[in-house]
Amino acid sequence: MTVTVRFAPSPTGRIHIGNARTALFNWLFAMNNKGRFIQRFDDTDIARSKQEFSDAILYDLHWLGIFPDATEYQSRRFEIYDAAVERLKAAGVVYACYETPEELDLRRKVRRTRGLPPVYGREALALSPEQIAEYQADGRRPHWRFLLPNFSSDPLQPERTEVHWNDLVRGEETVDLASLSDPVLVREDGTYLYTLPSVVDDIEMGVSHVIRGDDHVTNTGVQIALFQALAAEPPVFGHHNLLTTASGEGLSKRTGALSIESLRESGIEPMAVASLAVLVGTSENVAAVPTMGELAERFDAPATSKSAAKFDPDELFVLNRTLLHHLPFAEAQDRLIVLGVSDDKAEPFWLAVRGNLDRLADAVSWWRILREGPQEKPEFSDGDRDFLGQAFDLLPEEPWSGTIWKDWTGKVREATGRKGKALFMPLRLALTGLPSGPELADLLPLMGREGTMARRP
Ligand code: GLU
Repeated sequence: MTVTVRFAPSPTGRIHIGNARTALFNWLFAMNNKGRFIQRFDDTDIARSKQEFSDAILYDLHWLGIFPDATEYQSRRFEIYDAAVERLKAAGVVYACYETPEELDLRRKVRRTRGLPPVYGREALALSPEQIAEYQADGRRPHWRFLLPNFSSDPLQPERTEVHWNDLVRGEETVDLASLSDPVLVREDGTYLYTLPSVVDDIEMGVSHVIRGDDHVTNTGVQIALFQALAAEPPVFGHHNLLTTASGEGLSKRTGALSIESLRESGIEPMAVASLAVLVGTSENVAAVPTMGELAERFDAPATSKSAAKFDPDELFVLNRTLLHHLPFAEAQDRLIVLGVSDDKAEPFWLAVRGNLDRLADAVSWWRILREGPQEKPEFSDGDRDFLGQAFDLLPEEPWSGTIWKDWTGKVREATGRKGKALFMPLRLALTGLPSGPELADLLPLMGREGTMARRP
């Protein structure tokens, strides 16, 4: 059997790092099992779903390094769901209900005050044909519920009915179907809620493993019953913990907080996002993993903790610096060209500056310093100015060897008696205009003798 997974967001906003966790868990699981990854847009809520969000989600996935084998839209598949509902109606497990939201609300309150669980009491099953005719005459249209198989002969007498599955992440799981309301599958206006289309698609698309957030654990009990009602074998389920901010807040597509788009715009590398999104809240240490292949090797669904994974967005910057520090020139080259860093010095330049970057784009300011000199003229005391005069007089003629920085500063130390910070800081300021930065031993050969002399104060 080919492993087939899917990532199934509703396109109602941009995806955030928590959604990326779900997408990546599926992608890495597919990678490790030579499986297929389907991108499925759960866009049955026509009013809130937008094509622009679907497009943007695909863009974000590509940026992260996820390339789906197929892309599907639920909004284009209503006929398939209609056929499934007809089958369920024929089997007598879908029934029409006429309650308004206000009526349901009132009933829930009454049940609560009587100490009963606030589940739907299946009152619609007891409607007489006359009452139904009356509702219809009033212009009420039915919504349709799935009759959960939680009774032996009388649906009005539900009994504890356990659904079990062996969760890929959480191990043995149990949901009692008697603790749940019969889910609404179809709204009054004929549109679908998430529950049924998801199951129908998982069957039709041959989904073997459903990996999703643990906010869906209860749904899984219901959906396993639906798979069975449609005479299909349920897939394997895995529910991973959700990401929350350090203060314990959940993430929402609506607020745009920690969206993949905003992380990209702030210069975070995709593998920094992927490393944190996948490894936080697991028994693996969070580390900057440079490639998806290596991340796949570390990925192990059962090693995910069951409690919410708190994470610190600042950690992304730490991971980002580590990734850039080790990023080979071949991988940076094209992006550097776009930034205007592209002559025969680009490679030694990259190797010299990469260890000092917060963001790849920051390489530009070092490129500018190298080509144009300090961006702000440094101020020097008289003593430092004299020192620098002597130092520049001692700069060796070209050709320079690989040890030019050591050779030059050695001579300067001998001639001036200065050492340590008193020696190096004025030189660093004169050469770069900044008190810290890449190794001067690496920068000096890139400036050349002429470039260096041009920096003499
Ligand atoms: N559209 C659902 C969600 O975003 C999908 C859940 C699932 O993977 O089945 O939560």
